[in-house]
Amino acid sequence: MAIQISCTSLNELPEVVEQVLRASEGIAIWALEGDLGAGKTTFLQAAGKHLGVREAIQSPTFSLVNEYTLPDGTPVYHFDFYRLETAEEALDIGAEEYFYSGARCWIEWASRIEPYLPVPRLSIYIHRRDNEERIFEIERYE
Ligand code: ADP
Ligand code: MG
Repeated sequence: MAIQISCTSLNELPEVVEQVLRASEGIAIWALEGDLGAGKTTFLQAAGKHLGVREAIQSPTFSLVNEYTLPDGTPVYHFDFYRLETAEEALDIGAEEYFYSGARCWIEWASRIEPYLPVPRLSIYIHRRDNEERIFEIERYE
C-alpha cells in the first residue's frame, strides 16, 4: 500500500526524511524515481544529514556510484542511473554486490535497472507539484 506525504517547502524535508525512515524500517534499499529536478538528490542530502553522513552528498556522475560513511562506520552507496544506456551496465560496476551487501543503497533513476532491483526495497516516487511543493509517494516491496 502506497503512502503519500506532502512536502510544501524545503523546510519540511527533515520531517519527510523521518517518515520515510520509519516506513523503511528493516529495508536497506531505497529506489528513487521522479523527473529531473523533482528533488531526489535534495531528499538524499536531507537523509544524509539526518543519519550523520559527513561527506557531501552529490549525484555520482562518472562513476555511477558514490560511497559515504555513517557514524557507525558502515557505508552508504548512492547511485544515479540517469545516464545508463542499458540495465546491464549497472551489473558491470557490480551493482548487485552493493545491493546484496546489506548496506544502505540509495538509487536515483531506479527504473533504469528495474529487472535487477532487489526485494525488499522502498520505492520513493517524488512528484513535483509546483516550484516548492512535492508529493512523496512511498511503498514497500517485500
Ligand atoms: P533530482 O535529483 O530529482 O534531479 P534535485 O534534488 O537535484 O532533483 O533538485 C531539486 C530542486 O528542487 C532543488 O533545486 C531543490 O532546492 C528544489 N526543491 C524545491 N522544493 C523542494 C522540496 N520540497 N523537496 C525537494 N526539493 C525541492
Ligand atoms: Mg539527482
